[in-house]
Amino acid sequence: MAGIYFHIPFCKQACHYCDFHFSTSLKYKEELLLALKNEFIQRKNYIESSTIESIYFGGGSPSILKPSDIQTLIDSVHQFFDVASDAEISLEANPDDLYSEKVKGFKNTDINRFSIGIQSFFDEDLKWMNRAHTSQEADACIKRVQDAGFENITCDLIYGFPLLTEDKWAQNIDTLVEFDVPHLSCYGMTVEPKTALAKFIKVGKTAPMSETQAAKQFIQLIKKLEENHYTHYEISNFAKNNHFAQHNTNYWKGVPYLGIGPSAHSFNGSSRSWNISNNALYIKKVGNREKYWEEEQLSLYDRFNENIMTSLRTMWGIDLNTIKTKFGETYKNYLLKEAQPFLAKKHLTSKKNTLKLTSKGKLLADYIASELFLIE
Ligand code: SF4
Repeated sequence: MAGIYFHIPFCKQACHYCDFHFSTSLKYKEELLLALKNEFIQRKNYIESSTIESIYFGGGSPSILKPSDIQTLIDSVHQFFDVASDAEISLEANPDDLYSEKVKGFKNTDINRFSIGIQSFFDEDLKWMNRAHTSQEADACIKRVQDAGFENITCDLIYGFPLLTEDKWAQNIDTLVEFDVPHLSCYGMTVEPKTALAKFIKVGKTAPMSETQAAKQFIQLIKKLEENHYTHYEISNFAKNNHFAQHNTNYWKGVPYLGIGPSAHSFNGSSRSWNISNNALYIKKVGNREKYWEEEQLSLYDRFNENIMTSLRTMWGIDLNTIKTKFGETYKNYLLKEAQPFLAKKHLTSKKNTLKLTSKGKLLADYIASELFLIE
């Protein structure tokens, strides 16, 4: 089992909160597509040849590309790997890119899942975020994608920013519930350094994010979605009728993946690597077969901590038998000892040899994980 990730580093405009790697110029688009194909050939052996269960186009905005460009990349994967017949093949898309012709075009590709960046159904919020789409486009694109026969859809929403009242947040969630979207990813607004948002807060143009508001809206989200039969299977992810995201779940379960494109990360079980975050340099180095990535061998501490961080955030929790098998009895006992204060405060439960977050614990997931980490 393994996954392939393609990073498409282009966006129409820069969202104020975003610190992903992308360029708003499509100047090197053709060269970049060629470099992606070449990198795939050059680095395919980073992961052991195994069946590919998930192909994911992220970014950036992959929906900016022509469907035929996306299919060419999918074809390259088929050329070198066995792709499972039921593989999840996802594409991140922005509402303004999902016009009729484009959606029809994607129907002729192997894409079988859309991840749509809605973020909010209110124009004032979209403007504040500097998103390229309008609320009307957000609404229309979901319908268009569903009408075209795509059933496997996930939508992103953001909460915890100054303009978002509880009433608006409830309406955003309700809209997706009414559309019967089977998967939602919902993120609290974070302020990353060097973003426009960080600058606006610094100069007083916008209020800072409130942790209290984010916590309230997170609780509101869980309640609403659980009432509507969504399973809260990871801190930021909710699915109906087992529409769990294969790509994300593999990542949380430590399945190897090969990341292609500028800034893409890869993981093969024993090491992690990440590509340079510069389109022009990436294209040049791939073309010259120079090294364009950095790599680190993961220590036992790294692997242990990563395992804790990713599994604690999921509904499956930390399986103590897995910890014992992978790291040994001493580490399992260490973990149980460190978990005691959180078990006492009912932030964690321990059942059937598994540690899981309680509802209270979900609000402190990252803090609890960091307290369970091994420190070198
Ligand atoms: S569309 Fe996505 S990747 Fe592009 S700037 Fe906005 S948040 Fe970042």
